[in-house]
Amino acid sequence: MLRIYNIPVSLDEKKESLGKIVSKYLGLPKNKIKDAFLFKASIDARDKNNIHFVYCIDIITDNETKVLKKFNKSKKKIVLVKDNKSYINKYKTLKTRPLVIGFGPAGMFAGLTLAKAGQNPIIIERGNDVDKRKEQVYNFWNNRILNVDSNVQFGEGGAGTFSDGKLNTGINDERCRQVLKEFVEAGAPKEILYLAKPHIGTDNLHEVVKNIRKKLLH
Ligand SMILES: Cc1cc2nc3c(=O)[nH]c(=O)nc-3n(C[C@H](O)[C@H](O)[C@H](O)COP(=O)(O)OP(=O)(O)OC[C@H]3O[C@@H](n4cnc5c(N)ncnc54)[C@H](O)[C@@H]3O)c2cc1C
Repeated sequence: MLRIYNIPVSLDEKKESLGKIVSKYLGLPKNKIKDAFLFKASIDARDKNNIHFVYCIDIITDNETKVLKKFNKSKKKIVLVKDNKSYINKYKTLKTRPLVIGFGPAGMFAGLTLAKAGQNPIIIERGNDVDKRKEQVYNFWNNRILNVDSNVQFGEGGAGTFSDGKLNTGINDERCRQVLKEFVEAGAPKEILYLAKPHIGTDNLHEVVKNIRKKLLH
């Protein structure tokens, strides 16, 4: 798969198919592009007379090396990517079941990674499941009754469960995409895969947390 960066897309062009946008940008015949996926999208509004989108698009084409070579000396940024890489190492089953403390984002993804590696993690969470937790949070907000183990900070989903689910990270690691894909599989909007500022939304977030728990239990 080839990843093409920094494609300027005018507000009108946005309605066109991704294949057509890439074909126009690279000057490749459209029938050479077997498939195209949006990897990232952002808006460039620095010049108010030229507000446009900036896309990064992945394409599947017959002869990737030939296309890469063709653009080798151009200023266009195109790289070869392998998107089917597995980050999970298969180890022998551990003698004892691994223990994960807490079902916040770190615990969730530790649990998922361990389960995918064929281990059988035990996950312990101090607070309640997200539905019960919601009642307890509202009980605090409305009646000032605090449950010290299950509240805005503690409980299934972790500390950000009552935020609006903006996905912030300070790192630039290729595995971040696996995290986004896992969220989408659990019911998050597909746009989080390509929007520059991905956002799940509070109501979706609660369902996503529940679905990740269900996935781990099966
Ligand atoms: C109000 C708020 C809003 C936020 N909004 C955002 C946002 O919009 N976007 C963003 O990217 N980040 C946001 N964050 C930050 C984000 O929530 C954290 O970075 C993230 O939750 C850290 O994940 P974690 O798994 O390391 O820890 P936590 O989420 O804190 O998870 C730890 C888990 O362990 C459990 N636990 C604690 N002690 C024990 C124990 N002794 N036994 C068993 N379980 C235990 C807790 O109940 C909790 O579920 C927000 C945080 C807060 C507090």
